[in-house]
Amino acid sequence: MSNILKIDKVEKYYGSKSSLTKALDNLSFEVDKGEFVAIMGASGSGKTTLLNCISTIDKVTSGHIFVGGEDITKLKGRALRKVRLEMGMIFQHFNLISGKTVFENIEFVLKASGVPKEKRKERVTELLKLVDLSDKANVYPANLSGGQKQRVGIARALANNPEILLCDEATSALDLENTEEILNLLQRIREQLNITIVFITHEMEVAKKLFDRVAVM
Ligand code: ADP
Ligand code: MG
Repeated sequence: MSNILKIDKVEKYYGSKSSLTKALDNLSFEVDKGEFVAIMGASGSGKTTLLNCISTIDKVTSGHIFVGGEDITKLKGRALRKVRLEMGMIFQHFNLISGKTVFENIEFVLKASGVPKEKRKERVTELLKLVDLSDKANVYPANLSGGQKQRVGIARALANNPEILLCDEATSALDLENTEEILNLLQRIREQLNITIVFITHEMEVAKKLFDRVAVM
């Protein structure tokens, strides 16, 4: 198997000389295409920092991150936008737009990547089916359960057909039942799509359940 993601001697510092925080200390690992990897670690161990560096929301201080063999740490402009489309991200608190319906929340990212209107409608319909929310298309996030909100988050993250799904504490705000629902959905997505998942969590029980490999930060 070829690696889809390679973290190579990554360091990340926050702050300036007078108050430096080392968030990532010489971190290296690889993830194979199609692999489901859980990364565990206590609060403050740098998990979110790592995902933000992979998704290019944040920049590494030194070291390299390769996605599909390409070093993404120095990319700019069009090349950066292109590699961002290869990664979908889901968050602990879902980050849905409260003033938009479920349909519009998902459509939004397709609009942003320049998909024409007719195609958008088709794709959102397909995604709603995938996450089993076809009947909630016109509902606002406030009227959804936590598990349903995260299913919208997953549909949105998958909208542009990313190679990698990055999950930051995606079940940590959910109760047991909703956590099961999301883990089952990820399992189903794994069977249907050829996707790689990096799932960050501080919950060992969740990490053990679904993943090929558990790394500890
Ligand atoms: P985790 O997600 O594992 O809880 P984080 O990646 O959020 O950990 O944080 C790792 C360390 O970096 C912590 O010490 C945190 O205080 C620090 N940190 C995170 N983000 C910032 C930031 N934007 N500015 C300064 N320090 C930060
Ligand atoms: Mg975090």
